[in-house]
Amino acid sequence: MAPIRTRFAPSPTGFLHLGNVRTALFAWLAARSTGGSFVLRIEDTDQGRYVPESEAAILETLNWLELTWDEGPEVGGPHGPYIQSLRLDLYTESARRLVDSGAAYWCTCTPERLTEMRLEQQRLHEPPRYDRRCLTRQDEVASERASGMPAVLRLRMPEGTTEWDDAVHGPIKYENADIDDQVLLKSDGFPTYHLAVVVDDHAMEITHVIRSDEWVPSTPKHLAIYAALGWEPPVFCHVPTVLDEARQKLSKRRGAKTVLEYAEQGYLPEAMVNAMALLGWSSGTEQEVFSREELIAAFTVERIQSSPAVFDARRLDSLNGLHIRRMDAEALVAALEFHLPETSLDARRKLVPLLRERMVTLRDAVPLAEPLLGPAPWDPEVVFPPRKVDAGTAQTLLDAAIAEVEAGALDGLEAMRERLTALLEARGVKARDGFRVLYIAILGAPAGVPVFDAMAFIGAEKCVGRLRFALVELDRRGEASG
Ligand code: GLU
Repeated sequence: MAPIRTRFAPSPTGFLHLGNVRTALFAWLAARSTGGSFVLRIEDTDQGRYVPESEAAILETLNWLELTWDEGPEVGGPHGPYIQSLRLDLYTESARRLVDSGAAYWCTCTPERLTEMRLEQQRLHEPPRYDRRCLTRQDEVASERASGMPAVLRLRMPEGTTEWDDAVHGPIKYENADIDDQVLLKSDGFPTYHLAVVVDDHAMEITHVIRSDEWVPSTPKHLAIYAALGWEPPVFCHVPTVLDEARQKLSKRRGAKTVLEYAEQGYLPEAMVNAMALLGWSSGTEQEVFSREELIAAFTVERIQSSPAVFDARRLDSLNGLHIRRMDAEALVAALEFHLPETSLDARRKLVPLLRERMVTLRDAVPLAEPLLGPAPWDPEVVFPPRKVDAGTAQTLLDAAIAEVEAGALDGLEAMRERLTALLEARGVKARDGFRVLYIAILGAPAGVPVFDAMAFIGAEKCVGRLRFALVELDRRGEASG
């Protein structure tokens, strides 16, 4: 496929959640999989909704996910600037051309008149739309503007129909009569999204507009602008909305986490990218676990689905666990520093093999490593001896384990495990049940990282101390219940 140029064009009005970034990912994959370019553009023309920190958060999110952009803020490029508020002249120039050709007209209707009009339309069950009053009185409007009356510029939606072949949805057709005369320039002179997006996608030579399908109803307006300016429109790929588990649109207001919150909670960028890619795209095979490179190799716009995608948090968890297990050991050691800041590099290197299999998120390392790094926190609720193990067996096992450790068995963990297994089986106790005694003694709870490895990690002295404490606890509980 020929190299394609895509863009991600977020508005800095809030923080990016999974649904927003999934759209960026599709655009990035489409560019990377064809050897094309991915452009980042900040659409900040809606000054009223501008959230200052959000621009930095957008860059941080994409950087964390390694969705690198070839042109855009920080990296520049031949079509810059890539921030719309720095491109106002371009929009004014296009607006002038639209006015000159009669494709757009000025409107001085007051907000009060527009509200009245809307209420009347509601009362008559008519679709809300501008009634073109100003279109019929352009001379008057011109003198009103000259005398300083605030005015907006509206697109004059042409007659007829608009059709396009959407790369995701297939042919889409609208009756133009159903489409409002969109405001293109606001009274403060700033363009609306609709004008700016067309001017920029054209100027930046975007070949494929990959964006959320909530913009489908706006596309006829955009196509009318392309036509009026004599520009070739891009291919439109309207990707399905991401829904939450209640099948509502994913939104911050409904509790969707930002992508950076996932980062803090110990999700891997690889797992996020993998999980997001499956929200509305499938490779057409059974494969679920993808590296970034595998996604780039497998991705095609044609395989984007048109039906809404439902975000499943459990699937993300399972992919995260899988990616943690696939991760290069040294990379995992490095990634854990954020979550275990007190540990040395050496300690983390020793911890990784113990934790790796048991982590869903990197943050799970914290509770798992806790009994290894500090004193074993005995859970006061823990049943001891555990179910299916009598006090006599527990005591014999603890005594044997102390003797083993004192005799240097931590250097031969497998042999120690075999001897202790034999001891338990001789007493008719399954190893799986019996070893819970050791888990509680060493880790304070009946489960956790593999207990023999944990013993080796904490060393002989601490092991013996904890095993002895368990013996005392066994006695104390025996007395209390006897
Ligand atoms: N600024 C728009 C948004 O944040 C971009 C829509 C588009 O990609 O055309 O949703």
